[in-house]
Amino acid sequence: MGPESLEAKQKAAIEEVLKAYPAKAAKNRAKHLGVGSPEDESQKTCGNVRSNKKTVPGVMSQRGCAYAGSKGVVWGPVKDMVHISHGPIGCGQYSRAGRRNYYIGTTGVDTFVTMNFSSDFQEKDIVFGGDKKLAVCFEEIDALFPLNNGITVQSECPIGLIGDDINATSKVYAKKTGNTIVPVNCEGFRGVSQSLGHHIANDTVRDYVFDGNVETLGEAIEPTEYDVAIIGDYNIGGDAWSSRILLEEMGLRVTAQWSGDATLKEMAQTPKVKLNLLHCYRSMNYISRHMEKEFGIPWVEYNFFGPTQTYKSLRKIAAFFDEKIQAKCEEVIAKYEPMINAVVDKYKPRLEGKQVMLFVGGLRPRHVIGAYEDLGMEVIGTGYEFAHDDDYKRTKDEIMRSTVIYDDVNEYELEAFVKKLEPDLVASGIKEKYVFQKMGLPYRQMHSWDYSGPYHGFDGFAIFAADMDLAINSPVWGYSKAPWETEGEA
Ligand code: SF4
Repeated sequence: MGPESLEAKQKAAIEEVLKAYPAKAAKNRAKHLGVGSPEDESQKTCGNVRSNKKTVPGVMSQRGCAYAGSKGVVWGPVKDMVHISHGPIGCGQYSRAGRRNYYIGTTGVDTFVTMNFSSDFQEKDIVFGGDKKLAVCFEEIDALFPLNNGITVQSECPIGLIGDDINATSKVYAKKTGNTIVPVNCEGFRGVSQSLGHHIANDTVRDYVFDGNVETLGEAIEPTEYDVAIIGDYNIGGDAWSSRILLEEMGLRVTAQWSGDATLKEMAQTPKVKLNLLHCYRSMNYISRHMEKEFGIPWVEYNFFGPTQTYKSLRKIAAFFDEKIQAKCEEVIAKYEPMINAVVDKYKPRLEGKQVMLFVGGLRPRHVIGAYEDLGMEVIGTGYEFAHDDDYKRTKDEIMRSTVIYDDVNEYELEAFVKKLEPDLVASGIKEKYVFQKMGLPYRQMHSWDYSGPYHGFDGFAIFAADMDLAINSPVWGYSKAPWETEGEA
């Protein structure tokens, strides 16, 4: 199919989807749906879609809240701190262990990522306030887990509604003990999605980590010319580790990784690095810009999904350093190229021509496009849960030809697009999986890699390719039929 007829088909699919809405909702949603064209210079964002706006009330958004952005993404993976979900138990339980953030340490002794700490508000706390309860939580945490290096307070919605002063309570305890206590006013209702929670969390890193007293935690590291920090890698399935291998093989020293497998100390010492390497732009651009402005540290975005983008990113990173690093970068690429070529040779013939529809958060709706293309696959639809305009601008550089773009797509729309565009694979968040599998479509969960991974770096690409093959070419599809395909049984 030529580009023109493809684009026409894609635009028709959007028109068709919008027909189901009342006029006002259709007008609103039309702004968030579009067809991205890489060669269309007039497009300000990919597909000219609008983003970071409130979800239409009544539709089932896939978004998370500000609390999820702070607790679930930015702060939660910091392993040597205890993160209290301050409020009723529900938010804490729902956010517990939802993502996998791999870490090294002894859980409950010096690392606490998978443990669930909640102040467990009851009705009387809502009425009379929870400041005192929070102060007791601090005491109990320090008594039970003396090796913690700090505490964060992650506010849930009711805390903002009743006006609990978590900042004052935290300040009193921090003054008394000298410990790092970080109040994070990330009540879920703030902003339109988890995105504001990322920003709020970044601001508290600035205020309580960089401007705090964390330097007193153990020995300071001696800086070198080749120190870098990985920013915005949450180590899902060990992604930061497989990225770190490549960076260290090319002669750089990774002194901090944020925030998968991170410690408070390494975060505090990040302003000493020579370059910040930003993977998830959306969740951590704020603190990277702050470090650039305040400490003069440049930052560069990189993409370690798929060999083409990884080669490009390694060279981009090496260009910030001297010829020694640049030569070692080429050595690293030459070392892994045969392994990567073997992966492509094995899986490309099995995946070539297959079409994918994506819907994820952070960076993945654009970053993984190249990895699919390395396997001969094509992304025909993509969109973000909580992106801003700059994410959609960056997406335009990644798509190969006209592509359906959907911002904050809801369940009805995604299902309708899948039915109309008939991809071979849907790759999105946690909640959609079984809907599409019941349609008889292969599915991969691209939030936490369906409990597989890592997917970053060269090691990760080999696993990514095998997983996509497993999803699409599994013999199970030959035995399953959607109920509506079986006459008389639906
Ligand atoms: S929106 Fe509010 S109540 Fe819901 S999970 Fe987020 S913090 Fe909790």
